[in-house]
Amino acid sequence: MKLQKERKKIVHYCQLLLKSGLTKGTGGNISIYVPKENCVAISPSGMAYEALTAQDIVLIDLDDNLIEGNCKPSSEWPMHTAVYKKRPELLAVVHTHSIFAKTLACLREDLPAISYLVAVAGKMVKCAEYASFGTHELANNALVAMEDSKAVLLANHGLLAVGQSIEEAFNIAEEIELCAEVYVRGRGIGQPVILDNVEMGNMVEGFKTYGMPKV
Ligand code: 13P
Ligand code: ZN
Repeated sequence: MKLQKERKKIVHYCQLLLKSGLTKGTGGNISIYVPKENCVAISPSGMAYEALTAQDIVLIDLDDNLIEGNCKPSSEWPMHTAVYKKRPELLAVVHTHSIFAKTLACLREDLPAISYLVAVAGKMVKCAEYASFGTHELANNALVAMEDSKAVLLANHGLLAVGQSIEEAFNIAEEIELCAEVYVRGRGIGQPVILDNVEMGNMVEGFKTYGMPKV
C-alpha cells in the first residue's frame, strides 16, 4: 500500500473530528495531497470513523483516476482535488459539519473578524453560494468564496478548511469553529465588535510565523 504515513494521519484526524465535536456521524472528510506522487489520500465515503483503518483510505489522482482503494472515495472528492489543482501550495483539506460554522452557513452569513483568531484563515471567512454536496458546482463555489483565505463556509452545509499540512488545516477548522461559536453566541446578547481591516492584515502577517522556531 502506498502512502502509509498519510493514510495513518487521515485515520487519526478523522477520529479527532468526532472526538473534538467538529462533526457527527459520517459527516465531513479529510485528504492529504502528495504532489511528487500525483496522489491524493482521501477518507472513504460514508464509513464510521470509529472503525476506520489505514486500508480504508482511498488514493486518487488529480485527473479523477482511482489509484488504490477498496472503498469509495469521499463524495466530496471534486472539492478536494479542485483545491489542489487551483492552489498548488495547499497540501491538506478538512471538511466539517461543525455546529456553529454550519449555523452561520445556514443563515448564509460570512464570519467577520470577531477575534484575531479568524486570521488563521484570513481577514474573514466568506460563505459560498449554495450547491448540492459532492458536486463540481459546490467545489467551484467554495473556491470562488475562499479566494485568498484558508477557510470557507459552505451554504446550508458546513466548513471547508485548507492548509500546507493536515496539522494546519485541522487547526484552522478548530479555530474557525471557535470563532463562529463566539460570534453566534455574541449575536444572541448583543452586537459583537469587529476588528478593522488594518488590524486583521497585521494578524494575518503575524500568523505566518506564529509558533515557528527562531532561525
Ligand atoms: P462522505 O462520507 O462521502 O465523505 O460525505 C460526507 C460529507 O460531509 C458530504 O458533504
Ligand atoms: Zn459535508
